[in-house]
Amino acid sequence: MARLELKNLHAKVAEGDEQILRGVDLEVESGEIHAMMGPNGSGKSTTAKVIAGHPAYEGTDGEVLIHLDEDEFGEDFEIPEDKRTWSILELEPNERAALGVFLGFQYPAEIEGVTMTNFLRTALNAKLEEREELFEDDEADADTEEDDADESVPSPMEGPADDGEVGVAEFQEILSEKMEQLDMDEKFAMRYLNAGFSGGEKKQNEVLQAAILEPSVAVLDEIDSGLDIDRLQDVSHGINALRDEQGTGILQITHYQRILDYVEPDRVHIMLDGKVVKSGDASLAEELEDKGYDWVREEVYETA
Ligand code: ADP
Ligand code: MG
Repeated sequence: MARLELKNLHAKVAEGDEQILRGVDLEVESGEIHAMMGPNGSGKSTTAKVIAGHPAYEGTDGEVLIHLDEDEFGEDFEIPEDKRTWSILELEPNERAALGVFLGFQYPAEIEGVTMTNFLRTALNAKLEEREELFEDDEADADTEEDDADESVPSPMEGPADDGEVGVAEFQEILSEKMEQLDMDEKFAMRYLNAGFSGGEKKQNEVLQAAILEPSVAVLDEIDSGLDIDRLQDVSHGINALRDEQGTGILQITHYQRILDYVEPDRVHIMLDGKVVKSGDASLAEELEDKGYDWVREEVYETA
């Protein structure tokens, strides 16, 4: 089990003084689905980007923490007691990913000649390698420079330098299993990265990427936008599979209640003017659908 915790998070744009987040409190545990809703401009995407470490934003107060259990990365990878809670605002985006935080809005660009399969295997190996580095015990540090030097000159017996921990054959098995879980056509993975992908296919890619990386918590920003009903159902099925098959916690940012008919949230949070002002169960999303946000605004500012 892992838990992502936002504690009184304040943030502004990096170039400028405009405060956007004004004290966001939120906790998402593995295996839970949380929906974050709110009017345009309330700070939902900024929350996602600050969690991801997007360079355009700067945390100015509060914390983003990830709490890990000792066996969060499997039984062969025991996390020492002093490395189970990480404050991630100071970490690089790829280090955050290595700790199990997945940010769905980071679309890979179209890159010529790279298949989905290769891209996903490279991403998985990069994550595993980064994780090794983060958890390397300090006593072993003395040896690492030597090791690194060795690695930079791979022996021909070891194959190309980018071979990584998960080899081609092993990865193919992982990929097949995941694509089956997501009900995706295997041909999809043979296509070139994003080349000619429809909006819906890009969203499905996002889910596939999360399935391969097996994050503890995935933040999905408007993954439902622009999807027709069939694609919405496919993507929803995939999101539910992430939770059911690998226990990923989901923070689903959405403007519309519609996707919540298929991905039923355990909790719903309403964001307004850079804060989470109200939380409730799934019925809260239905109430928003009926009544809009004005009543929330009135309630919040009356009691303030
Ligand atoms: P939401 O996703 O809830 O629609 P955003 O997080 O995208 O809202 O934006 C929240 C507020 O912050 C908006 O008023 C937006 O104009 C402002 N904002 C977001 N990013 C930037 C930026 N890079 N530069 C200036 N203002 C920004
Ligand atoms: Mg947004």
